[in-house]
Amino acid sequence: MGLTRVSGLLFGGDYNPEQWPEHVWDEDVRLMAEAGVNMATVAVFSWSRLEPRPGEYDFGWLDRVMDLLHANGVAADLATATATPPPWLVREHPQVLPVDATGTRLDFGSRQSYCPSSPVFRTATVRLARAMAERYGDHPALAMWHISNEYADHTLECFCEESARHFRRWLRERHGSVDGLNAAWGTSCWGQHYTAFDQVNPPRKAPGPVNPAQLLDWRRFCSDALLECFELEREVLREVTPEIPVTTNFMSVLHGLDYWKWAEAEDVVSDDAYPDPADPTSHVTVALSYDLMRSLRRQPWILLEQAASAVSWREVNAPKPPGMMRLHSLQAVAHGADGAMFFQWRQAKYGPEKFHSALLPHGGVASRGWRDTLALGADLKRLAEVAGTPTTAHVALVLGWDSWWGLEAPESMPSNRLRLKELLQAWYGPLHAAGVAVDLVPPLGDLSGYRVVIAPNLYMCTGEQAAWLEAFPGHLVVGPFSGVVDSDDQVHEGGAPGPLRALLGVTVDEFWPLPEGTVQSLRLAGRAVPARTWAEWLRVEDASGDTFGDTEVLARYEGGDLDGQAAITRRGNAVYLGCLPEDVTPVLTEVLAAAGVEPVAVVPEGVEATRRGDHLFLLNHTTDPVKVDLAEPGTDLLTGRDLAGPIEIPGRDAVVLRLANSGARRTDTESPLTNEGER
Ligand SMILES: [Zn+2]
Repeated sequence: MGLTRVSGLLFGGDYNPEQWPEHVWDEDVRLMAEAGVNMATVAVFSWSRLEPRPGEYDFGWLDRVMDLLHANGVAADLATATATPPPWLVREHPQVLPVDATGTRLDFGSRQSYCPSSPVFRTATVRLARAMAERYGDHPALAMWHISNEYADHTLECFCEESARHFRRWLRERHGSVDGLNAAWGTSCWGQHYTAFDQVNPPRKAPGPVNPAQLLDWRRFCSDALLECFELEREVLREVTPEIPVTTNFMSVLHGLDYWKWAEAEDVVSDDAYPDPADPTSHVTVALSYDLMRSLRRQPWILLEQAASAVSWREVNAPKPPGMMRLHSLQAVAHGADGAMFFQWRQAKYGPEKFHSALLPHGGVASRGWRDTLALGADLKRLAEVAGTPTTAHVALVLGWDSWWGLEAPESMPSNRLRLKELLQAWYGPLHAAGVAVDLVPPLGDLSGYRVVIAPNLYMCTGEQAAWLEAFPGHLVVGPFSGVVDSDDQVHEGGAPGPLRALLGVTVDEFWPLPEGTVQSLRLAGRAVPARTWAEWLRVEDASGDTFGDTEVLARYEGGDLDGQAAITRRGNAVYLGCLPEDVTPVLTEVLAAAGVEPVAVVPEGVEATRRGDHLFLLNHTTDPVKVDLAEPGTDLLTGRDLAGPIEIPGRDAVVLRLANSGARRTDTESPLTNEGER
């Protein structure tokens, strides 16, 4: 299924016409047409306007909006409008409102004021989704369904009695019996043995640390409970409008929701990304989330929201300096997006987001922002042929939510300073700097086509997952504190890395977390490299004390408590790091060379190189001009110029080359989201 009604790259944003008098709408659609906007996300927070009283609908205004959009060549990414229940629903049924871990019911007046498990809420969303589908299913503007909005942004979990009953049903399904739950949760510890499911509660605020296995199941349950809300609406949409693709906007690399599972349930992956303009490294952080979005369904995806300039929710909301909005949009496309859309079209006059930037700023058509909007619309048109083109990566980073949830359980870990996003970035940063294309894969995912697989951390690793890595014929890198527990968060006997011991050829004798400010040096590639946060006392022998004779020690600690101990090892093609070196580049360089992985292009620092099909993207994230030597000639789609050999790219500018020597160009851009990757 694809966005067959919209060709080329998507450009536009959230459109909230209900916040404006109708005479403004004519100007909106006229300016949208002028800017080349081809898609608008509508009705995201419109429930209280569309259904002002139970079962009584007011679709007239949205009818006129949909007609206006269509008449001006703008397709609708139409929301089911269920992101925030209307006041009448929560006043008639206060149990719809979510309850926090202390038992406080959170009131109406913001957004996402719902308990994910509430049958009243669920029934009401499904009824509205059906009404929307029946009303607009045949509307020519309808191109995509947008269910709810940014699930788990404010409401990831609810601790009410209804949620408790739902959690118990989920637990019964997972563990079969209360004895199964007792075994999985290790309830013999601290006297928690249960004799009936109705004794089990959500992990509400307790006097001390809560059972980490209970927390882990709670994380799984909360992701699943919201996914059920999504699926209930999706079923109705698929029944009434089977030809219209369904999405919900993800929130980059989000701890709360298992996006592998979620992506399977939708037709198109879309993402909201808000890199901080004040952070000079944010383009690297966001690149990882873009690569995740592309990897989730191994398809192009849509950047559904980004900011034209400042956001409204940081302590200080820095604007995007000239060039950055365009560069960030091109960056998303460079990483596989078939659209660069925004929150929002017209900057709000009131509400918590009135200072959030927009494509059409408060200053109107005379503003710098509006000129940038016009320029970006024109640029995205020039890149139309990029839509649908695939990305090929030979390196994969492993990311699994179960393991992440286990790793970041509060209060019971050797260190709270091992954070998965930072561990991922420790590898992703140098790969990005080297211009190497990267995919993400879930545990047990398809590894065919990859030459290098890196698991920055696999705290939770089952026997099945160990067998999956053992069967991978390429080069494997495993980061510290991996293979520690099974899927119930119970420690593997014999020590970490548990089921990975034979593959990696080491046993962890003791974890050696480093307090803040402590450095443990190691000698790596002939120089001293500091490790912070984490180290391990490794034995190059198995649990019974027999030596793994073929394990090489690549680096040893130098000085400090671990002086002379193995820090980084290799057995066959599998490298293990018992620590977190400040810079993993020396390890990475050797592994990439051994695996024959080449960069997309050789570029100076601060320049990002990616490839989609026959297109080479070169993005200069620095403020100074840079020189790049092109290995292949090509035509820059942004300027129409033919380029070869050494070229200069101005600061915060980009080149998108259609490479001359690559085979036949793809000409079909009608169904941009249907192409599988090359693998
Ligand atoms: Zn609840």
